[in-house]
Amino acid sequence: MARLVIVGGVAGGASAAARARRLDETLEIVIYDRGPHVSFANCGLPYFVGDVILDEAKLLVATPELFRERFNIEVRLNHEVLAIDAARRAVSVRDLKEDRTFEVSYDHLLLSPGARPLRPPLEGLDLPGVFALRTVPDSKRIRAWIEARDAKHATVVGGGFIGLEMAENFKRRGLDVAVIEREAHVLPPFDEEMARPLGARMRAEGVDLYESTGLAGIAPATGASDRLEVRLSDGRTLETDLVLLSVGVRPEVSLAADAGLALGPLGGLQVDARMRTSIPGIWAVGDAVESVDAVNGAPVLAALAGPAQRQGRVAASDICDREARFRGVQRTAVCGAFGLTCASTGHSESALRRVGCNDVEAVLLHPGHHAGYYPGAKPLHLKLVFSKADGRVLGAQAIGEAGVERRIDVIATFMQMGGTVHDLAEAELCYAPQYGAAKDPVNIAGMIAGNLLRGDFRQVRWAEVEALATVQVVDVRNPSEVAAGAYPGALLMPLDTLRNRLGELDKARPVAVYCAAGQRGYYAARLLAQHGFDVYNVAGGMQSRHAAEATG
Ligand code: FAD
Repeated sequence: MARLVIVGGVAGGASAAARARRLDETLEIVIYDRGPHVSFANCGLPYFVGDVILDEAKLLVATPELFRERFNIEVRLNHEVLAIDAARRAVSVRDLKEDRTFEVSYDHLLLSPGARPLRPPLEGLDLPGVFALRTVPDSKRIRAWIEARDAKHATVVGGGFIGLEMAENFKRRGLDVAVIEREAHVLPPFDEEMARPLGARMRAEGVDLYESTGLAGIAPATGASDRLEVRLSDGRTLETDLVLLSVGVRPEVSLAADAGLALGPLGGLQVDARMRTSIPGIWAVGDAVESVDAVNGAPVLAALAGPAQRQGRVAASDICDREARFRGVQRTAVCGAFGLTCASTGHSESALRRVGCNDVEAVLLHPGHHAGYYPGAKPLHLKLVFSKADGRVLGAQAIGEAGVERRIDVIATFMQMGGTVHDLAEAELCYAPQYGAAKDPVNIAGMIAGNLLRGDFRQVRWAEVEALATVQVVDVRNPSEVAAGAYPGALLMPLDTLRNRLGELDKARPVAVYCAAGQRGYYAARLLAQHGFDVYNVAGGMQSRHAAEATG
């Protein structure tokens, strides 16, 4: 009987084990995990800390008993795999409870050891009260610390998804919260104008948000037992009861690297599309591996549960002689915090420009999440990033209170099929007024982008308006809307009056038109262009300006 040994029994490892059993009843399958749980819900941990999930048992998606009874899979918890002898096809395993080491041979070895939280080389990170969150025991330690000390203040270092979820959950438990983010805004994978509304919302909810500010170190607070002093890169200090470090993760590769498995350029395990490593008989999946970026073919590290599980399925299929390939990742992700949902797929505009990509264009829109005439429509801020050359969709980001993840999932699916902005314009999506619009935001994004690519209008961003020499800026909103803010010096020419007031504009100078969200600006741009004006619509109108400037 052939034996499949799996290292790591959570997202990737557990998926692979169950799939392998479904494909091959004869295989002996053993999972080793150094932790006390198999197949637990890492993604639920912030909500366990925040008392949303009250019962710890709910975090355990499956138990060793279930694996044994339903799948005939052996799960050995508290067992760490210490070394791989690839030549002899054997691993050495330490039973952490019994304190003994033994060797197990394998026919197939699958590694899904995950990632470990990054710890910057700074003083004080080992002090009691400084935590990272990766496992159920981590979450219990944080809960116990809060309860034992009746903690009143938490500091979160890092404003990515886990940091934001934890900030929300600390707040939910009644703690005051500070969030420190080294980059200019929280949610660093988002473009700035898309992330700013979340920062503003956090401040409005009472979070003390330090952007463009790094952590310099942590020390015991003077005089107060157990309290900590957090030192910021700009010299300021904060006193806090606990610190959560959430500044990213690194692939857990030491076991594999010691055995001579090849690493990729980003430090993750190198695998092919079948999830085979550089050594025959060994597969690897999940946070530990480097994947291929489905958008541009570059190597990428994506610490996400969906890819880990799909990779586990591919590896198990390959082990069981079924044809399967992993298509790559585009990092489709969603995070909910402080009443806002933030979702993205593919690349942001800023990330593409940072790596010197010039074949990039983007449109910004701010529709309601469903038809405006039906009560309760919430604004949805959507950015679509695409290739100027062929309209291929390269990425999208959205933020709002409702309807966000659905739009990003639709766009993500089109991207996986190689879709263009023209495909989005044509997408047939479900509609009733309480759910969407006959022209869904996805359609509208595709239409705006298509109009731009066909040259039906030209656009500028707010930051570029002043660079248009001698520009005439025209506000085509109604007078009642101006009180909410206007571009300094803009000529107010409401759209419905524009056709009769063309004589007030100088044809020899460029015109930049704007409205609240870009739609009336587009109508105005079409009108003016057909009358011979050199005209630009300001992308996303005033709403994009407000979003970019949002500080709370
Ligand atoms: P893991 O699930 O981390 O499993 C690795 C296991 O291997 C661990 O149990 C570890 O103990 C074990 N192990 C490692 N080395 C050894 C060894 N030598 N011997 C034995 N055992 C070993 N992703 C999303 O897509 N959406 C979310 O909302 C989301 N939220 C998250 C929230 C938190 C707090 C965390 C920590 C992660 C979240 N993720 C989320 C990421 C997601 O959980 C991971 O991408 C996914 O779990 C990776 O699966 P994996 O199998 O590669 O590793």
